[in-house]
Amino acid sequence: MSFPVKAFRFAFSFIAAVSLAPALSFAAAPHEVYNAQQAYAYTAKVAGFGERWPGSPGHQKTEELIRQVLKKDGAVVAGDDFTASTPRGMVAVHNIIGKFNVTADPKQPVFILAGHYDTLFKPGFIGANDGASSTAILLAFADALAGQKTKMQIWLVWTDLEEAIKDFDANDGLYGSRHLARKLMTDGTAARVRGFFLLDMIGDKDLGVARETGSTRWLQDYIERAAQQLGYGQYFFQYEMGIIDDHAPFLQAGIAAVDVVDAMYGRMGPGLDGMGEFHHANTDTMEKISAKSLEIVGRTILLTVELLDKQS
Ligand SMILES: [Zn+2]
Repeated sequence: MSFPVKAFRFAFSFIAAVSLAPALSFAAAPHEVYNAQQAYAYTAKVAGFGERWPGSPGHQKTEELIRQVLKKDGAVVAGDDFTASTPRGMVAVHNIIGKFNVTADPKQPVFILAGHYDTLFKPGFIGANDGASSTAILLAFADALAGQKTKMQIWLVWTDLEEAIKDFDANDGLYGSRHLARKLMTDGTAARVRGFFLLDMIGDKDLGVARETGSTRWLQDYIERAAQQLGYGQYFFQYEMGIIDDHAPFLQAGIAAVDVVDAMYGRMGPGLDGMGEFHHANTDTMEKISAKSLEIVGRTILLTVELLDKQS
């Protein structure tokens, strides 16, 4: 992604996060078994597929990897396939959904963790952070959720054609998420969705997750609580930015949603991209990514889901 609509920078706070002792538990919880080194390895693998715009060989390889991991991890796999009318003509779009802990209860609450797996249509752009990191963290989540018991049904959603073909506007960009959000509204599933977290550009070595101003505040508060519990408070919500991203169509569908996005990628400033010098640049490559950032975001998000699950 993405596109910043406006930016208010707040001073960074240096208040140390209070680390609480983890609750005693005999079975390892998802945030404990989550493997950040594996998330990093998945990022490298996906970035290594090269350009991943819909229809490209790299896109096809990414789809195959996602389906292969979901099968290994015992997820119920669903697709949401359609053809989008774009400034480049008709484009086949493939959202991929992996569902964990599906019960027979038609009212079972659902929680969605999503991220886009396509990359910008730009020669030489491989999107190690913008595309590969979000794809990869969800793959590592699939591994962490395998065999876990949650009350909520957890959906991992790899959205397709998030990137605009020309410029982000009401009709260009977010193709996959707009289609899926509409579908969930139409078939009545939206009412069962307890919340939605979008992960985008979260592999940046210099990690700083924005407080995205369009996102649902009470859900951000849960993330903040989990981050502080793990001693990661300083990496979250130290600055504000409004961003058009895949969470927007879900918010419009009445679903509580948060864009978990590091919106400052490299140097910021006049003449540079509004989301940093490496955003949508061919310099978005693996040496900008760290396993530590994938660990901070991955463990925090999974612990947040665990906290929400206890109250579902
Ligand atoms: Zn992008």
